[in-house]
Amino acid sequence: MTTYEAVIGLEVHAQLLTRTKLFCGCSAEYGAEPNTHVCPVCLGLPGALPVPNEKAIELAIRAGLALGCKVRTTSRFARKNYFYPDLSKNYQTSQYDEPIDEHGELVIEVDGVEKRIGITRAHLEEDAAKNVHGEGGGLHTVVDYNRAGTPLLEIVSEPDLRSAAEAEAYLKKLRDILMFIGVNDGNLEEGSFRCDANVSIRPVGQEEFGTRTELKNINSFKFVRKAIEYEIARQEAVVSSGGKIVQETRTWNEAQQKTVTMRSKEEAHDYRYFPCPDLPPIRVSEERIESIRASLPELPDAKRARYVEQLGLTPYDAGVLTGHPEIARFFEATLAALGDEKLGKKVANFIQSEVLRFVETRGLEATFPVKAEALAGLLALVEKGSINGKIAKQVFAEMVETGASAESIVESKGLAAVTDTAALEAEIQKVLDANPAQVEQYRGGKQAVFGFFVGQVMKATKGQADPKAVQEILRRLLG
Ligand SMILES: [Zn+2]
Repeated sequence: MTTYEAVIGLEVHAQLLTRTKLFCGCSAEYGAEPNTHVCPVCLGLPGALPVPNEKAIELAIRAGLALGCKVRTTSRFARKNYFYPDLSKNYQTSQYDEPIDEHGELVIEVDGVEKRIGITRAHLEEDAAKNVHGEGGGLHTVVDYNRAGTPLLEIVSEPDLRSAAEAEAYLKKLRDILMFIGVNDGNLEEGSFRCDANVSIRPVGQEEFGTRTELKNINSFKFVRKAIEYEIARQEAVVSSGGKIVQETRTWNEAQQKTVTMRSKEEAHDYRYFPCPDLPPIRVSEERIESIRASLPELPDAKRARYVEQLGLTPYDAGVLTGHPEIARFFEATLAALGDEKLGKKVANFIQSEVLRFVETRGLEATFPVKAEALAGLLALVEKGSINGKIAKQVFAEMVETGASAESIVESKGLAAVTDTAALEAEIQKVLDANPAQVEQYRGGKQAVFGFFVGQVMKATKGQADPKAVQEILRRLLG
């Protein structure tokens, strides 16, 4: 029986984080009233002339450099011609044989094995408008041009991926990098990070590629994995039973748990690409490329390694804290405000167990009432011994609720630890006096009773005593 292997290449469309569209000054913001962010250029009215967005070009260069690409000093916009209602110009302004970035790579890891995946190219293009189906009692399709002309970077991988797991790892890694360098917000649900997958199979050992299908419009990592797994199995079943794979575009149907045909696949020559006569070539100096390279922030892999090596975090913790740039920034700002790297592990634990319990990643900077400096203020109180870890969690919940500082909550609620040794000693003596039988037992060698005394003292002090001090004094008094 023939054994087959899958050959997968991915095309990702990442929306660039610019304020305005690629060729006009209209807002590129998501979610506005339909057809309010439009002008003659992005509506494609005849005679309107495009002006390239400098910021989009800079972000495309940033992405290229972070992905190890060679950035071209001269690249060119091209017209990709096709007809569809969401494309009023009848061509999409894209890049063809002279893309801005090419020959990059990304290293992924699956089951502990590292693998290099080539990146063929990354090019700038404008997004199309959005067809909204089912209006007017289900009879009409209307078009929202707000999305028309928003800047995209299309990142095309080499067909180096061999499984759905590798494809998923590649996408996660790519999304991570683009988010951390501020190029893309990584939002699959809103469609600002979209993925198409080219999938084919071939007998193991064969060089030549099989006929491929293209999976389109997959909007979650889970679906990517399921769609590719399904498609590989479907193709194997077709070929094994003597059939032929048809080159076509398919999509994932979550309800049916299968891929279904959308349309037969076009070839590049169907689009009659030609250089856009309205736009001059993009020229970028080597100096500009190098200055953008120098401005790149620490990439997620390097950040994780530093958290482990320098701050003593576990790889798991480092992974959680670099799960989103907002979490990493919050962690680093808290640690910086505390001014002591040795507290990295404690800050990491508190953010994972408490902060991430209250907040969705995306709201951490914009809407979460507790800022990094305020959290540092709380953790500093724990370090000083003013409050213990348990009280800190209570205070934190109150900070989230009211936005007040840790100091003011501790003070107004009288939560400060009983640190006055004489007072604490008096409390402990009272506990010992009240439980003479247990004292006898302890002195007779029953060590387990110690925990009972600690519990009684904590109860008597409403949990505010410093447990370490309690144990010290207890040992002395019982000794
Ligand atoms: Zn416009």
